[in-house]
This record gives sequence, C-alpha cells and structure tokens, in this order.
Amino acid sequence: MVTSTPQQSPLPAISKTLHHQIAIVGGGAAGIMTASLLLKNNSALDIAIIDPSDKHYYQPGWTLTGGGVFQLQDTVRNQRDLIPQSTTWIQDRVIQLDPDNQAILTQTGHKIEYEYLIVCPGIQLDWHLIQGLPEALGKNGVTSNYSADYAPYTWELIRNFQGGNALFTFPNTPIKCGGAPQKVMYMADDTFRSKSGVRQRTNVQFFSPLTQMFAVPEYSALLDRVIEEREIEVKFRHNLKAIKAETQEALFDLYDDRGNIVDEVSYPYDLLHVAPPQSAPDFIKNSPLALPHSPYGWVDVDRYTLQHNRYRNVFSLGDASSLPTSKTAAAARKQAPVVAENVLALIDSKPLLRHYDGYTCCPLITGYDKTIMAEFDGYRGTPLSSFPLNPVKERWIMWKMKTTVLPWVYWHRMLKGEPFEGDYLKPIQWKKR
Ligand SMILES: Cc1cc2nc3c(=O)[nH]c(=O)nc-3n(C[C@H](O)[C@H](O)[C@H](O)COP(=O)(O)OP(=O)(O)OC[C@H]3O[C@@H](n4cnc5c(N)ncnc54)[C@H](O)[C@@H]3O)c2cc1C
Repeated sequence: MVTSTPQQSPLPAISKTLHHQIAIVGGGAAGIMTASLLLKNNSALDIAIIDPSDKHYYQPGWTLTGGGVFQLQDTVRNQRDLIPQSTTWIQDRVIQLDPDNQAILTQTGHKIEYEYLIVCPGIQLDWHLIQGLPEALGKNGVTSNYSADYAPYTWELIRNFQGGNALFTFPNTPIKCGGAPQKVMYMADDTFRSKSGVRQRTNVQFFSPLTQMFAVPEYSALLDRVIEEREIEVKFRHNLKAIKAETQEALFDLYDDRGNIVDEVSYPYDLLHVAPPQSAPDFIKNSPLALPHSPYGWVDVDRYTLQHNRYRNVFSLGDASSLPTSKTAAAARKQAPVVAENVLALIDSKPLLRHYDGYTCCPLITGYDKTIMAEFDGYRGTPLSSFPLNPVKERWIMWKMKTTVLPWVYWHRMLKGEPFEGDYLKPIQWKKR
C-alpha cells in the first residue's frame, strides 16, 4: 500500500545496474497476475517484479475485517509464495521512472534497465489532504477500512458502539473500490440493529461530494431503496476537509450544483469511517508517464490496448492506470490478459489486437447475508452479469460468493493467471434487454 510522502527526498547514488527484458513495477493483484500470464505463454521470458513489500494483501477482505467476518490474517500471504518461480523479485521501492532511457531507479540505488515496462504499483492514499486525519486515525472513534492498520479497529468500534452519530465518508477523488465506503456502513447498521441493539439511539449518516450512491444508475437506484429502508441519512455535495479530534467534529465543504464551495458545515461524530482522497503514487505523478494536465497523475494508457500513449514499450493496468473505469481487482483481472497478450505481440513485432472492454465489479455488501454483485461495463456505465441472474438485486448467494468463493478464486486462480470463471457461463449469462 502506498501512502503519500509530501516531502521529496534526494535521489540515491546508483550502486548497481541490472537489466531485465520485462520489468513489472508492483507485485499486487495486477503485477502478479500479469507475470503469471506472461510466463504461461512463454516460460523463457526474463521478468523482474519490483516491490518492497514482503506481504501481499487481499484488500477486498478488509471490508470483511472491518465488519468482523474475517480476521486481518485471513487477508494476507507472504509475497515470496505468490511471485511466480521463474521471476526475479527485486524487493525494493521504485522512486524514479526514466522511460526515455528505459530505466527505473530504486530507493537503494539500483538502476534497472528494461526493454518492456509494466507499471502497476496501485493507488496512493492521501490521508494528509484531510486536515487532522493522520493524527486522528486509529483512536477515539476515527477509522478506515482502506488500511490494514485500521480495518480491525473498525470492527472494534462497530462492535462496541453505544449509540450516537456514526458517520461514513466518500472523498472528492477517484478511489479504489467505489463501493467500500458504503459497504462498511451497511454492516455497521446491521450490527447496530440486530447484535448490539443500539440503532434506535444512533444516526447513521453517509457524506459524499457526489450526487448519487453509485456510478451505474441501475445499482444507484437499488441502493437508494436500501438507504431508505434502513433510514440512513445521506448528505450529497459534502466533502470531508478536516477533523477536529479534540471535539469529535467532522468539517465538510458544501458544494453547489457546479461544484463550487458555498459553505462549510460541521457534524459531531462518535464513530467516523473515512475513505481517504487517492491519486497515483508520487513517483508516477512526477514522471513523463503521467497523464498530462491531470491532478491525479495516472499512467497515461490507451483504454483498449493498455499501451502507454507516448512510450510504446510501456503498459499499465490496475489502480495506477488512467483507465476510465472503476478501480477494482476484478477490473485488473480483465486487464492482465490484455497487457500480457499485447506485450507478447509487441515483442514479436505484431499488432496489438487484444482489447480491454471496461469490465469491472464491485460486490456491494448491503448486510450480513446480502450482496449486490455489481458487475458493470465501466466504459458505458451499464450492468453486466457473469451469472444467469439479474445482478440488480440483493442476494444471499452473492454474499456467499463474496465471503467464500471470491477470496479462494483470488489466491488460487486469479494470481496464477487462470481464465475468468464467468467465461464458462457465457451461453447462459443474464443480459440487459
Ligand atoms: C477496503 C477495500 C475494499 C475493496 N474491495 C474490493 C472488492 O470488493 N472487489 C474488488 O475487485 N476490488 C476491491 N478493492 C480494490 C482492489 O484491492 C484493488 O483495485 C486492487 O488491489 C488493485 O490492484 P493493483 O495491483 O493495481 O494494486 P495493489 O493490489 O494495491 O498492489 C500494488 C503493489 O505495488 C506495490 N508498490 C507500491 N508502491 C511501489 C513502489 N514505489 N515500487 C514498487 N512497488 C510498489 C505495493 O507494495 C503492492 O504490492 C478494495 C480495496 C479496498 C482498500
């Protein structure tokens, strides 16, 4: 996980130069999948994955950790056990990208030259953009499932809540898993109703700078009904800007229809779950690979081939890429085969024929036995389903899918580059009429 570092440190002196045919920056969901797929096609490839972390997290499991269904250790494996065997793992942090010289620089001063580069270091959590948040996190009622450090604290807060104001916020930037800020809220609401019985004396409130619950209208309308049934108060056009931990107040900018700030409002909290602002990691923002004129700094790639728009030997996928779809592991799963096939085509001087179609999925947990399996075409904003079932519905079977099948699929199939299971059900899949 990347957390922003506001001050830039000086670059280290180069102590060693290495060379690999393919360098993959980031060994998360996207990086491991892509390496596995490349090697399935050609086991002789010389691939290096550069990633400093010795742990690999199944981040979708953090929602379940915050909801008391998983322990944090259920969401983590040793990175060493997941990196494909014939791959070189360089356990180091990339700090500079130099695509003009086909080289990257790491924190310990290693220069890694490459012929092909795949950039997938995930997203950066910009906690510092909310004043008072870094100091407030992890104590006195302030938490976030966006970090392994605090997801267990979310459950501690929910479980022990005695009533009052329970606030859940969505930031004013693109984020990974756009549903996560509200999934935790429905689990909290369920717990307050059925387990702890404090719902009668609790205000559950959702704050978002947006004007709808979800990007796809069909899912958004269904969530509106969920919100109404549960008597959750929704405050649109509210952007969390500061936390006053000493008085337990959350300060919001209030936007008008055109996104101008028109007021500042303050709400007291007893429990505050924050989804932080997010952007591409700083070393991408500060590199020639970044999308020009964007404050977020995503890697500027073609939305179909996933090839960089200016550097032909560079590809990107996953949360760090500029792909205009919802940032999820499910999306990365459909992107990885495209990158693998197109990199191999480029090596063979063939045209890049494989295209990504914008597929993504955000299983929206709406309670302890209900989930909306929100699959959709992120380029058109329309629902999709890998199953012979209408996806625009809360279902028990999808809760089982989310809590048991998907984690297994992640560790045992996705990371190993196995084909997408939904493809086997194609002839009987639900289709929007
Ligand atoms: C609370 C939560 C709930 C979620 N729920 C879902 C869900 O239900 N369904 C779903 O599909 N997705 C979900 N996601 C999103 C999903 O986890 C991400 O979209 C997915 O992990 C993206 O894969 P990635 O490889 O791009 O990034 P990551 O998996 O984050 O991996 C990035 C890797 O890059 C490494 N790295 C970082 N910086 C550097 C550097 N400077 N140099 C080298 N390596 C670096 C990191 O150590 C990490 O291993 C959720 C995420 C969260 C936080």
